[in-house]
Amino acid sequence: MKAIYLSGHGGNDVVHIGERPAPQRQPSDVLIHMHASTLNQVDLYMRNSGAGITHQLPQTMGIEGFGHVAACDADSGLALGDGVLLHPGISCGTCEFCLRGDDVLCTRIALLGEHRDGAWSEWVSVPARNVMRAPSYLSPFEAAALAVTHLTAWRMVVTQGQLKPRQTVLIFGIGGGVSVAALQIAHAIGAHAIVTSRHAHKLTHAQDMGAALGIHTPHDDVVKSVMAFTQKRGVDLVIENVGEAVWGEAMKSLVRGGRLVTCGATSGDQPPADLRRIFIRQLQILGSTLGNRQELHDLLAFCEQHQLRPVIDRVFPMHQVHDALDVMSSATQFGKIALDLTA
Ligand SMILES: [Zn+2]
Repeated sequence: MKAIYLSGHGGNDVVHIGERPAPQRQPSDVLIHMHASTLNQVDLYMRNSGAGITHQLPQTMGIEGFGHVAACDADSGLALGDGVLLHPGISCGTCEFCLRGDDVLCTRIALLGEHRDGAWSEWVSVPARNVMRAPSYLSPFEAAALAVTHLTAWRMVVTQGQLKPRQTVLIFGIGGGVSVAALQIAHAIGAHAIVTSRHAHKLTHAQDMGAALGIHTPHDDVVKSVMAFTQKRGVDLVIENVGEAVWGEAMKSLVRGGRLVTCGATSGDQPPADLRRIFIRQLQILGSTLGNRQELHDLLAFCEQHQLRPVIDRVFPMHQVHDALDVMSSATQFGKIALDLTA
């Protein structure tokens, strides 16, 4: 079958489009004819180094996707032809974390495109519990984006961040998939979102989507802007994946008892802790990555209710995956870069 796979680590020269063995459906698996996927930072990480992630080469890329059911068990709750998306974490089902329902913390989790062959191929076979019917109002590309980007943002904003209507959230680096998803979810909840970017056009786009304030860095001072907007109170929640470069501003922007949720560290992972500020102001620092299957169920219901649509920046056919990865590296996109796995 046709697939996009890695033969090593480095640049686009290790990313190939070619033949890979088709998966054999195991009992209780669902075989899916893939249609769409979107790119995530981890795809670049796997291409560039993959360090610290146990995997074998060659390996098919892609952590998420949307496709149609081609074969399943009669008791799977699915029907042939159903449009479905994949929860990317194949968990063990028996460890302490799986048993308490937080399968994303599974000690033996195998993620598509990281620890095992991924979704950028004609066919994928995964356990039925990882397959969920996609909301029918979404395009294949929009649906594909939910199970990683929006799920990550959902766990950050709702589960970890506990954001409530009329509260205020500060989202750093608007434009990336997770930050745009966090803005959509926060806006749908009825919270006030403040966003930052170095690019004025990204701020304009975010304000069109409901952001209450755009902070143009480095021209505007983040903390001063936040304090002016919140009448010197500070925000209830900070969502960030930038790390070191914004840590100080993030901590100083929080209200007493506020929460910071982080899911990345692109600018460095050793910021000053500022412990005195943390304990005196009783701040909470929470790490987050992806989300569990129950959270994906909850997210899909929330999306249906609010008719929420992931933002797709552009779609590339499979044979232009190198161009798609280049756009991802340049970080010029607003929202998601998608791959058409049928073209
Ligand atoms: Zn487990």
